[in-house]
Amino acid sequence: MTNPSAPSTPSAVLVTGGNRGIGLAIARAFAEAGDDVVITHRSGEPPEGLRGVRCDVTDAASVDAAFTAAEELLGRPVEVLVANAGITKDTLLMRMSDEDFDAVLDTNLAGAFRCARRASKGMIKARAGRIILISSVVGLYGSPGQTNYAASKAGLVGLARSITRELGGRGITANVVAPGFIETEMTGQLTEDRRATYLAGIPAGRFARPEEVAGVVRFLAGPDAAYISGAVVPVDGGLGMGH
Ligand code: NDP
Repeated sequence: MTNPSAPSTPSAVLVTGGNRGIGLAIARAFAEAGDDVVITHRSGEPPEGLRGVRCDVTDAASVDAAFTAAEELLGRPVEVLVANAGITKDTLLMRMSDEDFDAVLDTNLAGAFRCARRASKGMIKARAGRIILISSVVGLYGSPGQTNYAASKAGLVGLARSITRELGGRGITANVVAPGFIETEMTGQLTEDRRATYLAGIPAGRFARPEEVAGVVRFLAGPDAAYISGAVVPVDGGLGMGH
């Protein structure tokens, strides 16, 4: 049976922060599968072989302009939004400045909200759409030194679930992907000691490749996931089990 609310094939996909790391792996996975993909980048040029639009997710006008530019490149409204752009500014609670707390919330949580809000316009008209928010295992597990980051990533769960309740009847799904430790520049900054400590807590005994996150995101955007919404899908080798 075909699903009446599935995005078209190939789908029109927008990946924020798709110029490197997990976002780039996600964008490449969609492109390799034949979908029409645009990534957002803040500076420089888009990666080879991918179309890009400039966007700072902390700025609503920039988000709006990026969607307009992306929709021109795609030739239609965005059908699959992957809100991946994110930052960390880690330090212990006692030392955390308001600025560092606000900056992380503004990028990771409010940035995803701004993109989802803009994407919803086209999705509501089309009565179809997929919103996938890239959270983190620490959103539900917690992490010392990451009160700002964990709070922002936990907030994405409430965002996805509220979108699901608001727009589920319009053929739109909103899900959260919660990666554990993935080999990217973000985790490349860890000291050897911290790496070893984290590895000891991961049942799979290894960090993941960005492509392993990309596969799950693609599944959530595809026809087989039409009835999955408001879910938090871990890609963490078992690290966050039970959370
Ligand atoms: P990277 O630091 O490698 O990439 C982050 C991306 O976000 C970059 O493209 C960056 O753009 C973009 N970005 C940051 N701030 C903004 C902004 N204000 N506006 C637009 N784009 C912005 O991170 P990863 O690939 O490791 O992480 C991607 C996502 O996955 C993040 O949300 C992260 O929290 C999450 N995650 C990562 C894990 C990991 O182990 N790596 C684990 C769990 C979750 P620019 O290049 O311009 O800086």
